[in-house]
This record gives sequence, structure tokens and C-alpha cells, in this order.
Amino acid sequence: MAGPRLAHSTLRQEIIAIARRMNALGVNQGKSGNVSHRIADGFLVTPTGMAYDTLKPADVVAMGFDGSYRGARLPSSEWRVHRDILAARPEANAVIHTHAMFATTLACLGREIPAFHYMVAVAGGDSVRCAPYATFGTEELSRYAVEALEGRKACLLANHGMIAIGATLEATLALAVEVETLAAMYWRALQVGEPHLLDDAEMARVLEKFRTYGQQALATPRVVSPPTLDEAAPSPRRVRRHARASFRRARRR
Ligand SMILES: [Zn+2]
Repeated sequence: MAGPRLAHSTLRQEIIAIARRMNALGVNQGKSGNVSHRIADGFLVTPTGMAYDTLKPADVVAMGFDGSYRGARLPSSEWRVHRDILAARPEANAVIHTHAMFATTLACLGREIPAFHYMVAVAGGDSVRCAPYATFGTEELSRYAVEALEGRKACLLANHGMIAIGATLEATLALAVEVETLAAMYWRALQVGEPHLLDDAEMARVLEKFRTYGQQALATPRVVSPPTLDEAAPSPRRVRRHARASFRRARRR
């Protein structure tokens, strides 16, 4: 006899797919990262200590904001970070935490990612902050992470890794990839010299542009007039005729 239908089955599958992709994309190491998504009465989070390839929808843990959880699996040891961020940031639905190579390398040096490249604005500010170190899984780490994320969508965690948040799992994974790319570029630039930083006025300009960047689908539709006869694509017959004529001209030369 089949048991009761698993709640949030599709979302659980999406969480597993995102967890697998963050490793395939090289923004996480082994099973050290974790993924969560908000649900009506709490959030879903990846379980602790399980390889993503083995995860089934029922392994994803449903948790309440009071820390209670349902199901056979223990939640990620970083569930507090996920809970506290989702509680503090109502606009965010997804949280991804990874131990990405270059982001973590900078975090181990206690370095933030400054405005060395305009794309730093993708995380919502003129830097990607680095939260102070605290033991993994602690309330202290969670508090530092929430503070480092204030007004931002990503941060580094000293001697640990990085966090990205967003409205959807897909957007959050894309941001994690972007932050890791920036970390890798910054790290490379540091090998050669001291990167030139963009000033506050320029980053303010970029942040303003980013507020509307990539939102053309939401823009008011514009009426585009159909092309006139001259602008219209030539007929295949006309294209063939033109090709034959230029071939003949080339032969005469
Ligand atoms: Zn971690």
C-alpha cells in the first residue's frame, strides 16, 4: 500500500537537482554545501552528511522556524543559518551555502571581495562582505551571516565558505556561480598586483543600472512596426540570383 503523498515533492526534487548542479558546476566540494527553500510553514533543507547523488525527495528535511523537523533524516548541520536568513529576509526564498574553492580561499584570508569589477554589484552592493569566523552550525555563525548579508544577496564566511540567497533556487545558484567567478578573478588579480578598485560613485551608478538590468520581460511591451519591403529578408530566389551574380563577377576578375 502506498503511503501518504509526499508534500512539496516537486520542490524537493528541485532542491536535489540544484545541490547536484552546484557540485557539477564546481562551486562546492563534496557534501559540504547545503540548499534550502521556503515553504508556507517553514522551509525545506538538504539532510546532513548525505552525498547529493544518493538523495531522494523524502531525504530532504521539512523544518519549522522553531527548529522542529519532520521525516527520517537529520537536517543539515547549518540549518540555523538557513532558518535565520529566511526569517530575516522575507524577499528571499532560497539559500545556498557552499565551500567554493576561490570564495573560500579569500574567506580563509579574511578578505572580502571589493569593487575590483563592476559585477560585484550583482550581490547587491559595492563589495561581497566576509562574515567573521564562528564554529559551523552555531547560532553565532548564523548571526554573523545575517549581518554580513544585510542589504546584500551573498557573503563569504571566514575560514569556511560562502552563502548566496535569492527569490528562486535557479537565481541563487546563478549568483553563487557569479560570486565564485568574481572570487577567482580577484584571487588571480592579487597574484599580479593590487587591483584597481572602482570608486563609490561608479558602483552607485552600476547598482542603479542593475536595478533594471535583465528585466526586459517585465518592461512595458512596445509596438514594433513591421519591416518595410526593403528591410524584409530577401526571398531565397533573390539570394540565389545574387550569389550567382557575385560568383560570375569573381570569375571575371
Ligand atoms: Zn559549510
